[in-house]
Amino acid sequence: MNKNPAATDKVVRSVLAKAGVLGARELAAWKRPQDDIRRLSQRDYAASLRRHLSSARVDALVRRAREVWPHFNRAVLGPPSQEFFASAADALQLHIKAARYRSLALYGFYVDRAGTMLTKPLIFVNSAHHALAIGTAFCHEVGHHFSAEVTKPKSARIRFYFDAAYSAHLRDEGELFADVVVSLAGYPKTAAGRIFTKPERRKIAQKGGLDEALIQRIRDHLGGSYGFDFSAALSPRQNLQYLAGMLHYAKLRSALLEEFDV
Ligand SMILES: [Zn+2]
Repeated sequence: MNKNPAATDKVVRSVLAKAGVLGARELAAWKRPQDDIRRLSQRDYAASLRRHLSSARVDALVRRAREVWPHFNRAVLGPPSQEFFASAADALQLHIKAARYRSLALYGFYVDRAGTMLTKPLIFVNSAHHALAIGTAFCHEVGHHFSAEVTKPKSARIRFYFDAAYSAHLRDEGELFADVVVSLAGYPKTAAGRIFTKPERRKIAQKGGLDEALIQRIRDHLGGSYGFDFSAALSPRQNLQYLAGMLHYAKLRSALLEEFDV
């Protein structure tokens, strides 16, 4: 998985040392997940998708992802494992580093190799989380990698992913694109069509939260595919933080189906 551990470890350490400063806004938001949930419920995801992305761009993303995972958007991707990461690192020409990080606010980061000592771009994921969250972080960073393959950045840009302030992703083309990878990986088209029923789809994508029956369908899907459910072992706040992420990716998936039929 990693042919140059010393260099990647050094980069991981130096990037993590900046997380608190560069992520100050997100870390503050992480402490108030209920604010994020309220904002996300009100956001119109269909409008954000139309503003920042196109059907052609999402189709190109699916084609690129299928070069790595032929079943992408046909069956759920993951859950992540050592073997999953090893084969992804190979196919994507990446360093992938999974390690426990003390703050659960951080999901991971992506750093392009330009301007660094890395021979390949690097994805870091915080393995202190549940497998579903680890997979979410990984897919999000793969989204940044797909963008970088096209734009070929000249200087390194660190893309931190904090489990907070998701509504800011709706205003940022790069973050929204990265989140589309997550939504398609976790809710392949057939499952998405079953969970986000046709009469409800537009409403979910545009405004409002998720009703009880829908939340149950989502929980059944995530439980069956990734073994995830809200746990009594976690703090109420951590469960709310996971709920914010669930709401975000569900609304985005519904909007993708409604707007781009993907
Ligand atoms: Zn990101």
